[in-house]
Amino acid sequence: MKLKFLPILMLLGAPFFGSAQQRNCGTMEHHQQLLQQDPAMQSRLNQIEAQTRQFERLPNSEKITGVVYTIPVVVHVVYNGTAQNISDAQIQSQIDVLNKDFRLLNPDNVNVPSIFAGLKSDVEINFCLAKQDPTGLPTTGITRTSTTVTAFGTNDAVKSAATGGKAAWNSAKYLNMWCCAIGGGILGYAQFPGGAAATDGVVMDYQYFGLSGSAAAPYNLGRTATHEVGHWLNLRHIWGDATCGSDLVTDTPTHNAANYGCPAAGHKSTCTGTPVEMTMNYMDYTDDACMYMFSAGQTTRMRALFATGGSRAGFLTATGCNTSTSCGLPSGLLASSITNTSATLGWTAVSGATSYSIQYRPSTSTTFTTVTSATNSYSLTGLTLGTAYVFQVSATCASGSSAYSSQGTFTTTGGTVTCGTPATPTSSAVSATGATINWVAVAGASSYNIRYKTSAATTYLTTTSTSTSVAITGLTAATSYVFNVQAVCSGTAGAFSSQGSFTTSSGTTTYCASKGTSQTDEWIDRVSLSNLTRTSTADAGYIYSTTTTANVTAGTAYALGYSAGFRSGYTATEFWRIYIDYNKNGVFTDAGETVVSRSSASASNLSSTITIPTTAKNGVTRMRVSMKWNSAQTSSCETFSYGEVEDYNINISGGVAREGADAMVVEEEIQANGLNIYPNPASDKITIRRNEIGWMNGASVLLVDMQGKVWMKEAISENDSNRESLEMNTNNLPNGLYNMVIFSGSERVSKKIVILHP
Ligand SMILES: [Zn+2]
Repeated sequence: MKLKFLPILMLLGAPFFGSAQQRNCGTMEHHQQLLQQDPAMQSRLNQIEAQTRQFERLPNSEKITGVVYTIPVVVHVVYNGTAQNISDAQIQSQIDVLNKDFRLLNPDNVNVPSIFAGLKSDVEINFCLAKQDPTGLPTTGITRTSTTVTAFGTNDAVKSAATGGKAAWNSAKYLNMWCCAIGGGILGYAQFPGGAAATDGVVMDYQYFGLSGSAAAPYNLGRTATHEVGHWLNLRHIWGDATCGSDLVTDTPTHNAANYGCPAAGHKSTCTGTPVEMTMNYMDYTDDACMYMFSAGQTTRMRALFATGGSRAGFLTATGCNTSTSCGLPSGLLASSITNTSATLGWTAVSGATSYSIQYRPSTSTTFTTVTSATNSYSLTGLTLGTAYVFQVSATCASGSSAYSSQGTFTTTGGTVTCGTPATPTSSAVSATGATINWVAVAGASSYNIRYKTSAATTYLTTTSTSTSVAITGLTAATSYVFNVQAVCSGTAGAFSSQGSFTTSSGTTTYCASKGTSQTDEWIDRVSLSNLTRTSTADAGYIYSTTTTANVTAGTAYALGYSAGFRSGYTATEFWRIYIDYNKNGVFTDAGETVVSRSSASASNLSSTITIPTTAKNGVTRMRVSMKWNSAQTSSCETFSYGEVEDYNINISGGVAREGADAMVVEEEIQANGLNIYPNPASDKITIRRNEIGWMNGASVLLVDMQGKVWMKEAISENDSNRESLEMNTNNLPNGLYNMVIFSGSERVSKKIVILHP
């Protein structure tokens, strides 16, 4: 038995130990998770297996040999720090390895020993980095997403923006490859054909991707991806994931177990007949330098997927490798060098564009003026002073023109503009701690100042909005508030409107009832999260246990434990739904608030990994654990027959603070300085604007997170004499709460900003 020669540290799963780390593929672990979560999956796998058997029985002449399939690939780089943001060149080096290995063009295939030389096989599959995206627009086939997640594990969190990752492109037409930090010593994992479309693809740890840069020996020859793409094309591990197991391929020898490192030639199996093992097969666990072949039987198994009725036959009509004939949409619109009568418009150049059409108008007009430019900028002259303008750009390529982009805005300097007074504003969505204030737009307004206070108070709290409503939070329950609104046109505020009023509701958040009516056969017998562990009997179908509050930190992953209790001698399939009211609004139905959804017939302790979102509100909120017999819960408010529901308190820290008095004081200072910072929350950009020429000369603007990490820093030149506004591109910032700090001369102002990508 070879394993006894391995250093002890490796047996303990030490993630890094020079070249001695053992190959570890997460595919089967991931596969078992999927089978547990999706009871219908096994029958889909059976169908694929039956179709594969049928294909294998065809005469060779009907197996369509000689036709090379080309698979469009999109690589989603999800990185935490620059080291993980691997280069385009490194990604291309991985695609090049796949194109050698799947075409038997890898030079090391000459090392295949003579007993297997007749079996080494050209799979006749090529891979390309996608040239057009699912909407037909040009692409590099690479997406890049910054994340705060430090290790994604094998639970598919990397495949959704809600969990810090990036959603798949249409997996029927693209091979999605995610490159991220997986952790736990896992090099990569893949989803076999037959799983859910949203998670279909291959996940690779950035340390084992491609040939250079971050790739670490002995897994620096790109073979981890060859192995994982083999799984994606329905290949099993060559030892069948069992002692002398079957890999469902007839021409590979039976292996007794996985091989590691670089086995000596002629290494024999201990299985019946002691065959020589095919340790150089990509589906073994040997080092990159010691695997260099697929067998003919494996090729047949992979190519069955592309035959009529095969589960990847849709790739035969995929167009992702074709050069896009569409013209990209211009983005990054920005106006600069703004004077009383002129401005320079700029935007990000579109690949393949030969010219651009620009249309612009005063924001109060309905008629555009259209001009063209051969480059990605244009100087407008003859404008009206003190006037807000909007503009948008369309690119023209050989194949035609794009649509017009979303609008950019700017306001010429000089002049005086008087702003209308809004009609009396109204309120909606009044809760114990917040309300939404609404008003009718004022012509020419670029933003609005909103002020509000309790009826008894003498000073107002203020906020701003660029739309015609604003949600205010941090209010006191059962209290009367008054509010009014003024419009801001070209940086000058008009008069405040008449007052509106509302009264907040009483402070206790009530949650809907939910319970099981019978606990004869089953109940929840254990729940654990962080410092909370509670074991119990049936609790009469529902309990709100406040004995222990679970303390958790936003942005952190936790093991959430839960377990079914059964009457003696009985088990049944139980459906688990666990909800957390992360935004504290009294319901469990908001996006991301269902944290566990699965079924299991196990009586032992089950566990799911949850990550508290950075956008969760701080403070105590509710977690609901629901266990229902035999069928899925229809809602978080369901009363069902067999099972139990348990509610708990969890206390979140490090999330989004509710806007309290401190933030509002700073807000008042900002208003007194005539400074607008909007929108808030922001997604793709933040605009900082102040109607005072030269105010920003030499200013510095920092965006700092709550841990003090500086994410963005903008310094404005002393000589930038016409500067009134600054736009910061926040596309790549993770969701969460930030402090914006502005230094200008002796002034220092700060404002809390929430980044929330939809
Ligand atoms: Zn594997």
